[in-house]
Amino acid sequence: MKFETQAIHTGQRPDPAFGAVSPPVYLTSTFAFADVGKNRGYDYSRTANPTRKLLEDTIAALEGGKAGFAFATGMAAETTVLHLLKAGDHVICGDDVYGGTFRLLDKVMRDFGIDVTFLHLDKRRRIEAAIRPNTRMIWLETPSNPLLNIIDVEMVADVAHKHRILTAIDNTFASPYSLRPIDYGIDLVVHSTTKYLNGHCDVVGGAVVTSTDELTERVQFLLNAMGTCASPFDCWLVLRGIETLPVRMKKHEENAFAAASFLRQHPAVNRVFYPGLKTHPGHRIARRQMKGFGGMVSFEIKGGIEAVNSFLRKVHLFYLAESLGGVASLAEHPATMSHASMPKEARDKAGITDEVVRLSIGLENADDLIDDLRQALEP
Ligand SMILES: *Cc1c(COP(=O)(O)O)cnc(C)c1O
Repeated sequence: MKFETQAIHTGQRPDPAFGAVSPPVYLTSTFAFADVGKNRGYDYSRTANPTRKLLEDTIAALEGGKAGFAFATGMAAETTVLHLLKAGDHVICGDDVYGGTFRLLDKVMRDFGIDVTFLHLDKRRRIEAAIRPNTRMIWLETPSNPLLNIIDVEMVADVAHKHRILTAIDNTFASPYSLRPIDYGIDLVVHSTTKYLNGHCDVVGGAVVTSTDELTERVQFLLNAMGTCASPFDCWLVLRGIETLPVRMKKHEENAFAAASFLRQHPAVNRVFYPGLKTHPGHRIARRQMKGFGGMVSFEIKGGIEAVNSFLRKVHLFYLAESLGGVASLAEHPATMSHASMPKEARDKAGITDEVVRLSIGLENADDLIDDLRQALEP
């Protein structure tokens, strides 16, 4: 089956009881056994639940992985994956990852004896120089947040495999529609399903897709032991969102292209970050490894923080809000919102200036979005 068909039909057939076309939500904590010592495939919903299983199988199919797992939030998924490590291990992490990922590694995992190096993952030799005997995982995100830097996924997977290091990628921004990291040798794919996979800003959720039986067993064990799984109803919402993922991603990209092209020629705008633009430093790699360039556009406004605040107050169609990947367009200020948990020093090092604004381009009419940007950029 092709991607669009998988998004709708993986594991889904009309329900055997009444032929319901929309899958039932199994709102149950526990399952009656058929006989002593014999369950009907499920026993307790933390361990596994049929609605969750449907979502997990669908995400695994879309990512081309062995198995999928659904979590309460993207951070729950990340926390679970990081528990594949143990005290004394070292992680190399991209330096402009999601603010919450930075916080989890820097402020939580360090206290459990996990050491971390934040690094620009653009060059093979830079990564190789940072590898230590105890390096166990490389964590990457591409396109990165909020600067949409592109990392060569195949190169990172190759370096990691040569040193027997696990690779985990946060594929939230691209979604499996645009990027399938397992095809390039990545071991674990992590998602905040809150974003494009669900796509309607009505749920928080996370997912992990594994590439080997060994990792599948280990992640299933951790999910059950740590209790980080998603609720059946949230899984049903994400499943419904995924059915339209391919059509949504196409339109997100089309609108993002229009917005990025408009911003690029605007006199009040400094740099525009969109991997679809030929001027983007990662454009060639993005072209090679991605099927689309996604719906996120960041840019720098001229005139400092006053100009940023004025823009954010004036936008009307774009809501001033964190998060991304929904049908409605959003605008946010990384320095004080999504990346406030990252110290200024680390933001500066990663190039996230106070003038950067991040846009999640929604599915509205592109002309309306551009009109809104134009009026908000007026002095
Ligand atoms: C939102 C986000 C997360 C965290 O996910 P939650 O569902 O909010 O816990 C992780 N990574 C990226 C890239 C995100 O955008």
